[in-house]
Amino acid sequence: MEKIIIEKIQIKENELTYFYNVTEKISKYFMPIRKYSLKYEMNIENVPKSILAIPFICNILPVSWLFDAEIVVDELDENFYESIVPIKKSYQNMYPDLHFAGNLKCKKIIQNNYNASKIAMMFSGGVDATATLVKHISEKPILINLQGSDIKLKYKAVLDNVEIKIQNMAAQFSLPITFIETAFREVLNEKELDDFISIVNDNYWHALQHGIAILSHAAPIAYLKKIKTLYIASSYTKGDNAKCASDPTIDNLLKFASTTIYHDNFDLTRGDKIELINKYCEENNLSLKIRVCFNERKEENCCKCEKCYRTIFEIISRNGNPENFGFDLPRNFLRKAKFHFKYKIIFSPAVIVLWKKIQQQFQNNPDLNCDPKYVWFLKFDFAESNNFIKKLYANTSLFVKKILRK
Ligand SMILES: [Zn+2]
Repeated sequence: MEKIIIEKIQIKENELTYFYNVTEKISKYFMPIRKYSLKYEMNIENVPKSILAIPFICNILPVSWLFDAEIVVDELDENFYESIVPIKKSYQNMYPDLHFAGNLKCKKIIQNNYNASKIAMMFSGGVDATATLVKHISEKPILINLQGSDIKLKYKAVLDNVEIKIQNMAAQFSLPITFIETAFREVLNEKELDDFISIVNDNYWHALQHGIAILSHAAPIAYLKKIKTLYIASSYTKGDNAKCASDPTIDNLLKFASTTIYHDNFDLTRGDKIELINKYCEENNLSLKIRVCFNERKEENCCKCEKCYRTIFEIISRNGNPENFGFDLPRNFLRKAKFHFKYKIIFSPAVIVLWKKIQQQFQNNPDLNCDPKYVWFLKFDFAESNNFIKKLYANTSLFVKKILRK
């Protein structure tokens, strides 16, 4: 049986480093350096190792399942340990075309308890997270932000600027925020894993990794701050039938010590969330700088990637002003949008569903459905638009980028 072995967990004040090894056959699915670190903003020396192991385990659990490997670790928190098999079953239900096997060998199972009372939430600063924040504002959640997730650690300057923006948002809501710097996306060879799971028509990070991998980073904070409930905002909506590693059937099963997880706002659409934020901002006279952008080299919203466009159109569909959400729209925005939609952006099946909902919202909005400047948008066929020219353009630019990198 293949093995993934945690050799050592090193703790130095606020820094946690994992040293690990993997057996030969699965080696190519991991990056060559077999150690990585997480940095917290608080001293974690008093957190038990059975809790500190959780972020590592959650990051590699799906790999161990896919390759029928055994994870070997000295000690683990009991509640966490018991949540693993149910989570695996949920993965199997979501992806019947993949086989989830594997095993976890742990020498000591330890019961950790604390008198949990506080609330926390994972906070990226995007639309989903902001809607969860607004909904639970009266519970005064502690905000937790991961650096090294959507924006890689190598883009330090971008991360620093995003950190300032997120700190400002936390201040606007008078909430405490803490950051975790993590190299967890530098552990797996995502390219190889993408190829391995190509049957599910999605990338490894989105399909299998990100949900529990992100949430688990909060385990040491949950222990130190005695967190009762940890919220993570939903990206999809009940009824979308979207397949995604962050799903209520997975996230809500994860437990560590006395902390439970809640996958929040699964009953709201992205438009509903925008409406919720819009209402709160109007009532409290707030203007936010929400960051949704796919472009990890930019701290501002680029206003030209699929996610930026989707959010902007969603805001317009709800009679909101994109400028109040942190979008600095360029001149001739709609003309540029039309061009990008037609010739550049490839719309995946998962987002086409969302775009159709936005078109429907425009259709139902009397201020918009007769406005001549949106006629092209109302008629735009997203599925049909993924034509040969667009794919050729995308592949050519990818090829050019690769050559430039060499
Ligand atoms: Zn963007």
